[in-house]
Amino acid sequence: SIPLGFFSGIGAASKRGILVKGGNHLEALQQLDTVVFDKTGTLTEGVFEVVELRPASGSDEELLQAAATVEQHSNHPIAKSIQRLYATRGVVRVAGQDYREVAGSGVTGRFGTDQLEAGNARWFKELGFTPLDQTEDGTYVHVAKNGTYLGVIRIADRIKSSTIDALQDLKKLGVRRTVMLTGDRQETAQRIGQQIGIDQIEAELLPDQKVDQLEAILRQAKGKVAFVGDGINDAPVLTRADVGIAMGGLGSDVAIEAADVVLMTDEPKQLVEAIHVARATRKIVY
Ligand code: ADP
Ligand code: MG
Repeated sequence: SIPLGFFSGIGAASKRGILVKGGNHLEALQQLDTVVFDKTGTLTEGVFEVVELRPASGSDEELLQAAATVEQHSNHPIAKSIQRLYATRGVVRVAGQDYREVAGSGVTGRFGTDQLEAGNARWFKELGFTPLDQTEDGTYVHVAKNGTYLGVIRIADRIKSSTIDALQDLKKLGVRRTVMLTGDRQETAQRIGQQIGIDQIEAELLPDQKVDQLEAILRQAKGKVAFVGDGINDAPVLTRADVGIAMGGLGSDVAIEAADVVLMTDEPKQLVEAIHVARATRKIVY
């Protein structure tokens, strides 16, 4: 192939807000067999609305304040949503001691005199808590303070406006299989997966299990495999795919570094555009 064709392809892509880090990635985009998506912030908005506060002991206010305090330093979409909710009430900004984000699980740290945790049911059980049942739709954020389980905040995400169209267009462009990988719980993942019409759903995955899943998909693929994510808890998967695609522009340094292709918008539709540009490039080359 003539490199010049790819150079002009990269230029054409960049004019459309698609940054391609090399001609080989355009070539891979032409031969996509499987496209794997992260869920939160990629297929969904990643802007959660708080649906319900369910304190197990204490008040709504105590539950919310503990969650907002321990989530204040996290960049995770769940944390951002709880920060937004609590911003109006003025959370006291304090530096956490022994603050830690446990990828795919939650956050923990000591704030002032309080030891706080917020995260999912699996992790809370590991920590020795008995989380409330999760019987309804949504993502459940469990909260604990000083070793006492405070209750749960149920939050809900929305599917992005271009997700369903993008998945249909990928099929029309010859992509054989679409997959969603998520650390969120099975029920929520299944419901969203069915609404958007994705072929395969893998849920309740820890970050290294996402890598294992991607490797299994790579073995089964009949062509190139792309992974599309936001770089939060998924950078290892971005690097492992044949084409790692980061969405949302220059938001996350981790994503930009790990990715082969950066889409400047948040819309899955832009991936379809990237494939169109890649295919037009081939016409120049051959
Ligand atoms: P996804 O695969 O949906 O992008 P992640 O792998 O980032 O999700 O996280 C998986 C799960 O871990 C989330 O659904 C949530 O239950 C929990 N989690 C991760 N980070 C946080 C956080 N900062 N606060 C609360 N829960 C979190
Ligand atoms: Mg994620």
